[in-house]
Amino acid sequence: MPFTALGLRKPITDALEELGYETPSPIQTKAIPAIMEKRDVIGLAQTGTGKTAAFTLPLLDRLSGDSRTRTKGEARVLILSPTRELAAQIHKAVKEYSKNLAIRSTCVMGGVSIKPQIRALNAGVDVLVATPGRLEDLAKQGAIDYKTVETIVLDEADQMLDIGFMPAIRRIMGACKNIEQRLLFSATMPKEIKQLTKQYLKNPVEVSVAPVSKTADKIEQSVMRVNAGVKISAVIHILKSHENKRVIMFCRTKRGADKVVKRLKHEKLDAAAIHGNKSQNQRVKALEAFRNGSVPILIATDIAARGIDVPGIELVINYDLPQVPEAYVHRIGRTARAGASGIAVTICAPEEEDILRRIERLIKIQIPTMEAPADLPMPAPLPRGIKMAGNNRGKPQRSGRRPPRQNSTVKKGAPKKGKAPSILEKAMSAVDRAEKEGSFANEGNFSEPQKPKARNRGNNNSGNKKGGQGRRSGPNAEGGGPNSSNKRSNSRPGNRNNQSKRSNNNF
Ligand code: AMP
Repeated sequence: MPFTALGLRKPITDALEELGYETPSPIQTKAIPAIMEKRDVIGLAQTGTGKTAAFTLPLLDRLSGDSRTRTKGEARVLILSPTRELAAQIHKAVKEYSKNLAIRSTCVMGGVSIKPQIRALNAGVDVLVATPGRLEDLAKQGAIDYKTVETIVLDEADQMLDIGFMPAIRRIMGACKNIEQRLLFSATMPKEIKQLTKQYLKNPVEVSVAPVSKTADKIEQSVMRVNAGVKISAVIHILKSHENKRVIMFCRTKRGADKVVKRLKHEKLDAAAIHGNKSQNQRVKALEAFRNGSVPILIATDIAARGIDVPGIELVINYDLPQVPEAYVHRIGRTARAGASGIAVTICAPEEEDILRRIERLIKIQIPTMEAPADLPMPAPLPRGIKMAGNNRGKPQRSGRRPPRQNSTVKKGAPKKGKAPSILEKAMSAVDRAEKEGSFANEGNFSEPQKPKARNRGNNNSGNKKGGQGRRSGPNAEGGGPNSSNKRSNSRPGNRNNQSKRSNNNF
């Protein structure tokens, strides 16, 4: 079926043709008509299958048919993203898809100067892509007129409705009193979060094209079991046997990511790190160098696990297992995008077997074992006292803000002692607390909630079992949210510059 059959205007289909999009992907085929009918939508589809276009194209189509003078602070479509990198990427897609339209869009995020963002909003925009923290900063300064928002999109919706981001999302949605349409898109949707979405959506249509949390069929997954102390040797072995490939490797901690980079450089493997302790300028540079191929290996925390679309990533390595099973789906989804194929290797220490089992239960696949080389050496000390990654002394990398502390008072209906509270329970208690503090004053048109120096130490380097049990997400550490500390740079995020014509194997 061609894009024209979906009723999209010619300037849009012309732009798609230029991008090499021939036919809509399954999520696009299902979601675009529902969005055009102004329905609330939950869109669930595997990573890399065209979700951005699925929600952007019909919204652009609507906006282009209804031109009018923009007012100060106006933003008719508000797209919220958990990370700055993803926000920049979505905005780039918006610009590409709307290149033949008189649509004005902008992107606001932390870590860069707020002044140009205020100037852009003063003129009013049709589409605003934002990270929640900076959006709220702008709102406090009166730069955004929430009443003009007609459509709100939560990309990576399960993360946005998770405990770290939820208070901000509720405040924003509550302040947008004239919302006519809400769209939630993600590749994963834990049951508890899905339950929450019912409070935010009105009579939603659910469009899903594959079982939720399914990993792409074209990813060849494997797990290599080694002791934590020799993980780096295992990784070097894998990298050397995949020379000249574009590789992204995920570490649990920011500090661990930096140390892996140092170790790889020592081995003459060129790598850059991207994580929440880097300035926005460094983050942009690392991602750009990776995109343009000048640095072939990107070492990332879960900041880069969701949504980031760098064509040509052939290998994903999980140096540490993620803290929550869903993150695995997003991490390995950095490869095999838009119909391509890819490889994902997970390095698993004995103490990480538990989270590996939870991942396998989630994706309903037993990940095949890759034999580890028998003679993996313990890493030698690095010059100048550089210590190795893989220990658990660095902070576990969250994909966002630290969840608020739980109130220690046991309340009626609270989870029994000893039983970990469910995500829903944790989320609701955060909401309760915020409501008491009055931070959800404007509920608007939303229904009320129902309420190594691990070196040579052998096998205990990467485990952080306790940390691995909780769901973590939120705006600050990574995503440019309200507490983000990287405010030094004024540079804007880089753009993908190797967008190529795509074949439509899966599209
Ligand atoms: P997304 O899941 O939105 O990050 O998209 C994944 C990749 O697929 C991006 O590089 C898009 O540019 C590309 N893409 C999206 N829709 C199509 C389509 N219909 N045909 C070809 N490529 C597409």
